[in-house]
Amino acid sequence: MKPWEQYIPPHRVYGNVYFVGARCGSSHLIESDDGLILLDSGYPQTLYLVIENIRALGFDPKNIKHILHSHGHYDHLGGTRALVELYGAKTYLGEGDADYADGTRDLTWAKELGYKYEEQFTPDVLVKDGDVLNIGGIDFYFQGCPGHTEGAMNIYFYADGELGKKRCAMFGGAGMNSLTLDFLDSYSLPHTLRADFAKVLEIADKEHVDVHLGNHVWSSRHIEKLAKQQAEGGNPFIDENCWHEFIAKTKKSFESMVAKEGRLL
Ligand SMILES: [Zn+2]
Repeated sequence: MKPWEQYIPPHRVYGNVYFVGARCGSSHLIESDDGLILLDSGYPQTLYLVIENIRALGFDPKNIKHILHSHGHYDHLGGTRALVELYGAKTYLGEGDADYADGTRDLTWAKELGYKYEEQFTPDVLVKDGDVLNIGGIDFYFQGCPGHTEGAMNIYFYADGELGKKRCAMFGGAGMNSLTLDFLDSYSLPHTLRADFAKVLEIADKEHVDVHLGNHVWSSRHIEKLAKQQAEGGNPFIDENCWHEFIAKTKKSFESMVAKEGRLL
C-alpha cells in the first residue's frame, strides 16, 4: 500500500457525521455530547490521514472518546491501539471478534493483507446482537452480522442535521474473502457462519436506512456521491435505496460463491 495515495478530503456526510477515512478503509466521525466518536479506525498505515482529517475539520483528535468497530479485521481496527495509547479512547467491538483484537486468534487478516498484527488491544465494551448503547447522547443499535467475521456488527443510529433526524447505518462486513469454505477450514471456523450470513442479509434488508455509511468507500458508492455533491450540491449521501442495493449486490456475490463451491455448508 502507498498510504499517500489513500487520501480522501474529509467532509461532512450529514449533520454531526463526517467522513475522515481513506480509500482502503472508511472512518467516520460523530460529534456527540461526550466528545468525538469514531466508527472504525482503519489501517495503522493510514492513521495519520485520519488524524490529519479530523484536525482539518476543526476538531481535536484528543477528543476522540469512543471507538466503535464494524468488525475485527486489520483494515477496520488497525489504528485503534495508537488512538487508545494517545488519547485514552474507549473501545467497542462485537463479542465474537474480541480475541481477534487481542491477538489470541490470528484472524485480523493482517497477514493476508501483507502485514503483521502488532496493534493488539483489549476492547473495553463487548457488544452483542440487539444491544442499544447510549454513547454521548446517541443511541447506537447493534445488530449481529456474523459471517465475514464472527462478531461483525451492523451499527444503526440517528444523525441530526438540517433535514432533521436521519437514520445512518454501517454494515458489519460483507467481503466474501473470509466466507469461503477454504478460509473457514484453514482457521477451523464453522461452516454455519455462511448460513448465519445469509440470514443476516435478510434481516438487515428489512431496516430503513437513510444514510449508508460504507465501511469501505465502494460499499456505499461514497466517492461517486462525493463527486456528485461537489458538482451539483445537495446531499447525495441521503439515499434510502443505497443500503438495499448494497445488500442485494452482496447477496448476489454470496450466492455465486456458494454456487461455485457447490454447497452452502
Ligand atoms: Zn473485513
